[in-house]
Amino acid sequence: MRILVVEDDVNLNRQLSDTLKEAGYVVDSAFDGEEGHFLGDTEPYDAIILDIGLPELDGVSVLEKWRSAGRTTPVLILTARDRWSDKVAGIDAGADDYVTKPFHVEEVLARIRALIRRAAGHASSEIVCGPVRLDTKTSKAIVNGVALKLTSHEYRLLAYLMHHMGEVVSRTELVEHMYDQDFDRDSNTIEVFVGRLRKKMGVDLIETVRGLGYRIQAPTNAN
Ligand code: CA
Repeated sequence: MRILVVEDDVNLNRQLSDTLKEAGYVVDSAFDGEEGHFLGDTEPYDAIILDIGLPELDGVSVLEKWRSAGRTTPVLILTARDRWSDKVAGIDAGADDYVTKPFHVEEVLARIRALIRRAAGHASSEIVCGPVRLDTKTSKAIVNGVALKLTSHEYRLLAYLMHHMGEVVSRTELVEHMYDQDFDRDSNTIEVFVGRLRKKMGVDLIETVRGLGYRIQAPTNAN
């Protein structure tokens, strides 16, 4: 899962991005509205954290531009405590949620998790597929009750496929959501990660769809 953090306060931006990275996300940072708008417009993020008070282009305008261009990425806005009108403007512009400064980064993290889940159509923090449980709160995958020891890349790959259960996900899409902007991306490595994941999981869950990509089949309802 790949997140964009648009925040001009350098320390706060770093704090958010460090916390997100520790939680297993890939993070790109932007420090003004123009840069933020450009990245959100051209890169496929799973969620965006957007400060409202930004230089160059304010957060509400950035959001309006994304939404009018048809970008539906979940957006969490950051607002100043004494600026209630920013919340209203932000939500009207298409924000999915907001957090008021100062905040605990854990709260931002929890809200981001929820936004990503809901965008993928999952209401609970645990995504289950057959014997595999993905605990998005602790960034762990559990197979038949046993937590897997996954690298961050392996976890991201599995998390992305499980969030998009039932869909065929191409290698390119996986690469775009697993690496940040500056990473030297190579879609051949995806095959290697899938191979390792299958081995560690020991269950036949990730299906190769020849020429198209990979899929985790949604469990069929027994009723
Ligand atoms: Ca600011």
